[in-house]
Amino acid sequence: MAACIFCKIIKGEIPCFKLFESDKTLAFLDIGPLSKGHALVIPKFHGEKLTDIPDEHLSEILPIAKKLVKVTGAENYNILQNNGRIAHQVVDHVHFHMIPKPNEKEGLGIGWPTE
Ligand code: IMP
Repeated sequence: MAACIFCKIIKGEIPCFKLFESDKTLAFLDIGPLSKGHALVIPKFHGEKLTDIPDEHLSEILPIAKKLVKVTGAENYNILQNNGRIAHQVVDHVHFHMIPKPNEKEGLGIGWPTE
């Protein structure tokens, strides 16, 4: 969709810190991270809500979120997916937040080696 900010990121019209890309899926760092390593995993298929996305475009999302968790080394993390304004969705292109939660041991050390 032309006006969608995440579709523009997918097309390379807006830059992002890319973590993973395949023909169906893109993962990149969130521009307003809630913690170091906060990433977004999105289907390239444009849809506003989870129910708008065909299953075949969702198949890689959780395996990739798992890979991101392993790379950060986070022992504590949230995977979050908002649908609709009341549920705090701001960007109308389905996205899964992967939010590491630093603890005392991990401190601020988790995140991406290239950050
Ligand atoms: P939502 O509240 O679940 O819709 O979250 C949207 C997320 O997209 C927020 O965490 C924003 O920081 C993030 N975001 C918005 N624009 C960009 C961008 O251009 N690059 C990376 N992340 C973005």
